[in-house]
Amino acid sequence: MRNYNSRKRILVTGGAGFLGSHLIDRLLDRGDEVVCVDNLFTGAKRNIEHLHSHPRLEFMRHDVTFPLYIEVDQIYNLACPASPIHYRHDPVQTTKTSVHGAINMLGLAKRLRARIFQASTSEVYGDPAIHPQPESYWGNVNPIGPRSCYDEGKRCAETLFFDYYRQHNLDIRVARIFNTYGPRMHPNDGRVVSNFIVQALKGEPITIYGEGQQTRSFCYVDDLIDGIVRFVDAEPGFAGPINLGNPSEFTIRELAQQVLDIVGEKSKLVFCPLPADDPTQRKPDIALAREKLGWEPRVKLEEGLKKTVSYFEDLLLEGE
Ligand code: NAD
Ligand code: UDP
Ligand code: UDP
Repeated sequence: MRNYNSRKRILVTGGAGFLGSHLIDRLLDRGDEVVCVDNLFTGAKRNIEHLHSHPRLEFMRHDVTFPLYIEVDQIYNLACPASPIHYRHDPVQTTKTSVHGAINMLGLAKRLRARIFQASTSEVYGDPAIHPQPESYWGNVNPIGPRSCYDEGKRCAETLFFDYYRQHNLDIRVARIFNTYGPRMHPNDGRVVSNFIVQALKGEPITIYGEGQQTRSFCYVDDLIDGIVRFVDAEPGFAGPINLGNPSEFTIRELAQQVLDIVGEKSKLVFCPLPADDPTQRKPDIALAREKLGWEPRVKLEEGLKKTVSYFEDLLLEGE
């Protein structure tokens, strides 16, 4: 537990979101002070409600596309809608959030000489032609499609981070996060794990896009937060980019079956059109994270899904 002398004042943008709220829990638990900045576009105060009146947490409703002048020691930049439904709702704002948001947070970090973490994404690899994806792969991204606001926005943010690193000698950390799931996912944001669990719990049909043969690798949120914090706490010298995700790969049909087994439902599967530019396979190569951080995920899909199902069960009961 950090004491008054060792504690840091840490800015988490997107802190009321799924990943941000878990990160804040972790930072507060170890004794740091946190400023949570969020415009509540996709996040919810409910995610940090349990911290209401916590003496070391401050919440600021603010949009990162506008400048921000505050004093902190470290920055975690997570602000950005992350699910296809949300980022396609206002694609221009999505690109602005990634690009202008990165510029403002990098400007802030530069003024303060603060270490800054960027939540990048496996989407920078697009529909990958190399499998699994190592950090050295440059990706296969459509620059003008419906996913481009997110993919290219995040790619441009990476460019900005590495230019501030080279040009201004900033202490940056860039992680490419692969599909992550767990409690506090938004129940209606259309991501596959939350969709399948909510559908199964309601006894509704499970919506498989395409044939369901596309693959993803799912990381439980606690593992991911461990990786992020280890990366940011490491001594300067390694800026990334680094893949953080779980290398166990499943087809979407396998995921549907696992969810149904856990929930104990026999919902039927319905097949819907595959969205444009939907990557056919995705699996992180995490050799670098193992080597540099001594990190690898521990939570198996079944175990993580059980915890997530139990979260959604409670959430649906509350809503009744
Ligand atoms: P989320 O939607 O739950 O959280 C994003 C948060 O950012 C929300 O609270 C939202 O209100 C806030 N936000 C959006 N635009 C903002 C703006 N302009 N100003 C201030 N706040 C803003 O999503 P998440 O899953 O927690 O994702 C967090 C970050 O991690 C995102 O940057 C996302 O791209 C990245 N990421 C997530 C995953 C994943 O699987 N969850 C995978 C790869 C990358
Ligand atoms: N910025 C900010 N907070 C700060 C410092 C800068 O939001 O404490 C923003 C500001 O909008 C600026 C951007 O970050 O335009 C980039 O800052 P930088 O110093 O890199 O560039 P410049 O100020 O020359 O545009
Ligand atoms: N998917 C699906 N049914 C759903 C939601 C998603 O079959 O109800 C598929 C989607 O087409 C994609 C995969 O699941 O192939 C992961 O989708 P998600 O939106 O969670 O993440 P991303 O595509 O960004 O990896």
